[in-house]
Amino acid sequence: MSGEYDVVVVGSAFAGAVAAKTAAEKGLRVLLLERSTEPGEKIVSGGILTHDAFNEPGLEFLKDAPLERELRGVRWIMADEHGEVPLDFTFRSTDDSRVGYTIYCYDFCKWLTQLAVDAGAQFRNNTTAVDVIKQDGAIKGVVTEHGEKINSQVVIAADGAKSLIGIRAGIRRKYPPENIENCVVLDFTISESDIRRLDLADTFEVYFGTLTPADIGSYVWIFPYKQSFHLGVGALVSSRKNPTIFLQRFLKSKLWKDRFEDITKLRAWMWNTVPLWSALDREKRMLEKTHGNGILIAGDAAGFLDSFTCAGFYGAMVSGMLAGETAAEAISKGDTTEEGLSTYEEKYKNRLIWRLMQRPWRRDLIAAIGGQKIIQLSSNISNYIVRRAFDQPKPSDLMFLLTGLLPALRYIGPFLNRKLPILFDELMLLTGVTK
Ligand SMILES: Cc1cc2nc3c(=O)[nH]c(=O)nc-3n(C[C@H](O)[C@H](O)[C@H](O)COP(=O)(O)OP(=O)(O)OC[C@H]3O[C@@H](n4cnc5c(N)ncnc54)[C@H](O)[C@@H]3O)c2cc1C
Repeated sequence: MSGEYDVVVVGSAFAGAVAAKTAAEKGLRVLLLERSTEPGEKIVSGGILTHDAFNEPGLEFLKDAPLERELRGVRWIMADEHGEVPLDFTFRSTDDSRVGYTIYCYDFCKWLTQLAVDAGAQFRNNTTAVDVIKQDGAIKGVVTEHGEKINSQVVIAADGAKSLIGIRAGIRRKYPPENIENCVVLDFTISESDIRRLDLADTFEVYFGTLTPADIGSYVWIFPYKQSFHLGVGALVSSRKNPTIFLQRFLKSKLWKDRFEDITKLRAWMWNTVPLWSALDREKRMLEKTHGNGILIAGDAAGFLDSFTCAGFYGAMVSGMLAGETAAEAISKGDTTEEGLSTYEEKYKNRLIWRLMQRPWRRDLIAAIGGQKIIQLSSNISNYIVRRAFDQPKPSDLMFLLTGLLPALRYIGPFLNRKLPILFDELMLLTGVTK
C-alpha cells in the first residue's frame, strides 16, 4: 500500500484517530497507521474522560461516544499498609460541574478510528512506523518495520509518550525517568448491585497513606465502569520500584478482603507509562517544539496533559484535531515547512488545554522545587497523617517532612514576600480601614 498521501498519521488512539478524521474531513488523502491489531488495544484499558472535552469546540462528536459511568465525586482514603482506614473524605461536584465519564480505551479508540475511516481516511493495523523519511531537512513520510517507505506531505506523530517518530524526526528527546511513571492496572468484573452497595456508582477512589511508599510518587486508584472496575498504581521510573508490589500489598490488605475479595473476578493485567510534568515546560518534557519541517506531534507525544491531574485523553483529542486542521491549511497553501506549520502552536495556545497544561503556580513551584520532590513531600505528609492517626509516627517521618519542606521555603518565601503586601491591602479594604 506504499504510495503518496497528503498526511500519514502514526498511532490510532485519542490524538491520531482525531487527527486523521479532521484531515480526511478537509478532503485530504490520509493514511492512519497503528501497530496493534485493534486500536486502543495497547493503551491502558481505561480512565476518566474529563468534562472539559465535551465543551471543546470541534469535539461535539463526543456526544455519541461509548461512555461507561458518569462520575460526580472522588473519595480520598487514607490507609495504612494493612488496609486500616483512619480517614476518608468524599468530594462531590455540584450540578453541572461533573468530573467526567469513565471510558474503556479499547471501545473508545475503535469508535474514534471508525469515525476517521468514515471520513475517508485509510486505516492500516499491525504496522509499526520505525523511522521517518528525510529529504533536504524536511520530513517526507515514514518507514515501517518491514522497510516499506510511505511518502506524505505531512507526518502527524501521535504515537504516545515514547514517541519514537518524534524522536527520530529530531523534535524531541526521551522523557527523563523522573518524568515517567510505570503503571500497572488490574481489571475486575463486579455486579451493578455491588457497585452501588460500595458507593462506586458515580464516585472513584484514591488511596493515600502508607499503602504506598513516598518515593514512588503515586497512589492506588479505583475507577468504576459499567460492570467492572480498575485497580491501579504507578511508580516513578526513577524510584526503581515495581508498582506490582504495592498492588499485591493492596490485594492482601484488610480493606480489599472486607470490601472486594468475594464479589469480584480478575479479568486482565495491563501495563503502561504516563508522562508527568511533561506539559509544564519544554526543558522538562525534553521537547523543543511541537512542529517541524513536514511534521506535527500531538497527544502524549507532545506532552498535552493536564498538569494538575495528568489526564491526557482530552488534550490528546484536541491537539489531534488541531494538528489535522493545521496540516490541511498548510497543504492548501502549499507550505508544509516549519514556518507553514507553525500556526499549530498559535491554535493550541488559544484553547483551554494550554491553560490546563501551563498552570503558572504549578509550573513555578515545580521549577523551584522539582516535581519529584513535590510528589514525595505530599506522599510523606499522607504517610505521616496515617501513622499519627494510628499513634505510631516514626521520628524519620518528621525528618522527611522537614527536609521536604526546606526546598519549598525557597519558593514560598519570595512568593509570600511578593503577595503579602497585596493580601494586606485587600484585608484593609475588606475591613473598611482603607478605601
Ligand atoms: C495507568 C494510566 C491511567 C490513565 N488514566 C487517565 C485518565 O483517567 N484520564 C485521562 O485523561 N488520561 C489518563 N491517562 C493518560 C492517557 O492514557 C493518555 O494521555 C492518552 O492515552 C494519550 O493519547 P495519545 O493518543 O496521545 O497516545 P496513546 O494513547 O499512547 O496512543 C498511541 C497509539 O500509537 C500507537 N503507536 C505507538 N507507536 C507506534 C508506532 N511506532 N507505529 C504505529 N503505531 C504506534 C499505539 O499502539 C497507540 O495506539 C492514563 C494513563 C495511564 C498510563
